[in-house]
Amino acid sequence: MAVIRASGPGIRFGLESIAGGLPAPRRASLRSLRDPADGSLIDQAIVIFLPGPASYTGEDCAEFQCHGSRAVVAALLRCLDALPGWRMAEPGEFTRRAFDNGRLDLTEVEGVADLISAETDAQRRQALRQMDGGLSERAAGWRDQLLRARALVEADLDFADEDDVPDSVAAEVGDLVAAVERQVSEVLAASAHGERIRDGFEVALLGPPNAGKSTLLNTLSRRDVAIVTDVPGTTRDTLEVHLDLGGLPLTLIDTAGLRETDEVVEAEGIRRTRRRAGTADLVLWLDETGRAPPDDIVSAGPPVWCVQTKIDRIAASASQAAGSPDGTSGPAFQLSAATGAGIDTLLGALTAHLLSLAPTTPALVTRARQRLCLERLQAALVSAGGDDLPLEIRAEHLRRGTDALASLTGRVGVEDILGEIFSSFCIGK
Ligand code: GDP
Repeated sequence: MAVIRASGPGIRFGLESIAGGLPAPRRASLRSLRDPADGSLIDQAIVIFLPGPASYTGEDCAEFQCHGSRAVVAALLRCLDALPGWRMAEPGEFTRRAFDNGRLDLTEVEGVADLISAETDAQRRQALRQMDGGLSERAAGWRDQLLRARALVEADLDFADEDDVPDSVAAEVGDLVAAVERQVSEVLAASAHGERIRDGFEVALLGPPNAGKSTLLNTLSRRDVAIVTDVPGTTRDTLEVHLDLGGLPLTLIDTAGLRETDEVVEAEGIRRTRRRAGTADLVLWLDETGRAPPDDIVSAGPPVWCVQTKIDRIAASASQAAGSPDGTSGPAFQLSAATGAGIDTLLGALTAHLLSLAPTTPALVTRARQRLCLERLQAALVSAGGDDLPLEIRAEHLRRGTDALASLTGRVGVEDILGEIFSSFCIGK
């Protein structure tokens, strides 16, 4: 079966000419689809008419569930395309129209995009939450409170001689700003995890040449329970593998690469390796001898777990986590990529570690764009919170705050603030 969706003002006319009349709204109707040019039968199909504005795009929509062969789809598309005012949609145009018609805001649009590209269960759940308006609902609440604060300040500035305006607005404005600032800080605190769920937690494999980094990466890639995609890294000298660990997305980065070539390149490789280690969520330090990593790796930032490799060579029997060697911030592991010993223990510990990073409340911010908007909002609120500020300056900071929210949701409106002033204070009648 194939589904062809259509949206726009010409839907009713199109259905009448191709499906022999307008089907009952929101009902699946079996119809003979005919070419309006000569009346010839194209297919028998289920047709659903979804009148606007309560549709995905906010416009009249139609859905044709036809037989899935290429010939049927091609013939139906040809007929639809020939209807006056009908054309093929651009990529993403349905969601674009939903946004333009106010059915979705920008964060919900991002949720739709994330749901379409979700690879793991945690990504799917997070995208659904966002598509369902998790962040936009919070943003709408903050916006209302800030508009109220702006209305108070601007009413005090502009209409101070009117009777209905409260004498002093400073205290109420301060309370509103502090409440929003507290909530924004909470949401921002969970944002790192939200971005990680979306983009994947990064684990860098580091260690001396020939420690077994590439072999471990290859071993993990071949485990069909874990592997999602196998993609080349952004630079020639790193290789990345995306894993699904208990629903959480994990990107394993092999930083080996350039070391085996001449000295200048080797230096560059080491520099990149160090930088990669600094931005990863976790470093696995692989070494055949089980030696601890150099100090600069340990102090680079993320936790470092020591992994002794190739234990089949030393005929070690233990494959469980041993004690933590000095100078590292995580457990030590022993494994053999050759025999598979210790691999499950390592994967189990990684899963537990990623789960332990999750905040108690689900993350609402999932992208850097959203985080930057909220950081701008937070900065504006901190500035607006100063009690002894002149009202004009406060008004300006509050305006910056609502601008930041407007760019988060993709909505900007000046009528809102005027509406708030007049509805709250009955000024001007
Ligand atoms: P890298 O430079 O750290 O990426 O190291 P490689 O993964 O290229 O491994 C270096 C050598 O060690 C290769 O010849 C591998 O076959 C070998 N090797 C890697 N892992 C194991 C292992 O678990 N057991 C044994 N016996 N050899 C291994």
